[in-house]
Amino acid sequence: MNDNRTKISFHGAAGEVTGSRHLLETGGKRVLLDCGLFQGHRSDADAKNRTFHFPPSSVDAVILSHAHVDHCGLLPLLYKKGCAAPLHATPSTAEIAAIMMADSARLQQGDAQFYNKLHAEEHLSIEPMYDEEDAELAGSHFEHAEYGKAFAPVPGVTAAFLNAGHVMGSSMTQLDIDTSAGRRRLVYTGDLGREETLLLETPAAPKGADYLVIESTYGDRLHAPLVDAAGKLADTIRRAWKEGGKIIIPSFALERTQELVLIIDKLRHDKTVPEIPVYVDSPMAVSLTEIFNKHKGDLCFDPKFLNYAHADGDPFGFDYIHYLRSKEESQTLNNKGGPMIIISASGMCEGGRILHHLRNNIEKENTTILLVGYQAQGTLGRKLQDGEKRVKIFGMQHEVWARVDTMHSFSSHADKNDLLAFIKAANPARGIFLVHGDPEARAALSAALAAEGIKNVKCPGMGEEFELN
Ligand SMILES: [Zn+2]
Repeated sequence: MNDNRTKISFHGAAGEVTGSRHLLETGGKRVLLDCGLFQGHRSDADAKNRTFHFPPSSVDAVILSHAHVDHCGLLPLLYKKGCAAPLHATPSTAEIAAIMMADSARLQQGDAQFYNKLHAEEHLSIEPMYDEEDAELAGSHFEHAEYGKAFAPVPGVTAAFLNAGHVMGSSMTQLDIDTSAGRRRLVYTGDLGREETLLLETPAAPKGADYLVIESTYGDRLHAPLVDAAGKLADTIRRAWKEGGKIIIPSFALERTQELVLIIDKLRHDKTVPEIPVYVDSPMAVSLTEIFNKHKGDLCFDPKFLNYAHADGDPFGFDYIHYLRSKEESQTLNNKGGPMIIISASGMCEGGRILHHLRNNIEKENTTILLVGYQAQGTLGRKLQDGEKRVKIFGMQHEVWARVDTMHSFSSHADKNDLLAFIKAANPARGIFLVHGDPEARAALSAALAAEGIKNVKCPGMGEEFELN
């Protein structure tokens, strides 16, 4: 590597949504921005996950934007393979990511056991990429940085976290880099929250950026207003109540689950819906809800939510809500009749307890599968969303008799208008890199920017490198 050049290269989430990994090189040092898991079809994702196109030991600093596994889920493998660099994150991101990484290790282990048992006769087997010890190893490298406090990941670079409004603890990273051409400011948005939020403060556009590396998940779409979510959820609950069915909600344990619980709490409080039992079937959601309560002082929260939380005392608790930790408790739901709401992970139906609930209820007409988050291509959630009538769960074909509904208003990502407004306000002087978006979404955002006269927009491909000057 030529020490005088400052470069950025893209090793994931380049023309797709998962697997965020961006490598900044400057002054002979390497700063890795996120190290996320690729999700999707097992064999494709597995090959991408297991390959690093740079030696993990050559990384001098890692910066983590937030605790979703598509941003932090490969950190255990990075450290297992020899990285020893400090891992910078906000305190709540560090705390949540530790939980997410351990959970990812357990999911892989369970998945491998199941696959190997199923394919024993064919002598096919898979190995988990990492275990809980590797997740702990990654966690031992965390160095906390509060929002707005400067830190130096490597010599010649000053960094600071800004609120990204996406999930609790989420941050944009502002990097002031001493390049051979002078000082340049690069802002990496990570995942960017929307203008209208339930729990979090709206992200403000950063000032003085030369380069912006920005997500484009919903570069081709507008979200329905958040108020619609409550109405649609109320209709779904009333219908399930009448039909005696189960509402199964695959949900990210982080943020989306707390948002859902908050909305249901309000609907029940206003007597808009009957007192339907709610099961949050996720030990992780229980732990995360505790972290929410602990970090309520964080700068990322919306004051309106904090006022509500203060008045309510327990914003995520009410009669008839049950937080289930143990497997046994989870299994009792199979024998219980509806109506009920089951909120369980994973959000794209790629693993976790949600698969058992789907397997047991997908062939019943009075079941509603309510998709409330982004569904990446190749995932079971996306297949259901696309209306497939037969799907595989745990290797077995199932007919889809359940009603599948999607609520688009729940997104924790900026939509097309939010992204355009953000980019115009940030007005980066030298260039924009669109990452974390499917090709169509990214192309649509790029075209919209061109129509506004905004130039220097790049859509990097996997492995592509750009000089920053
Ligand atoms: Zn995210």
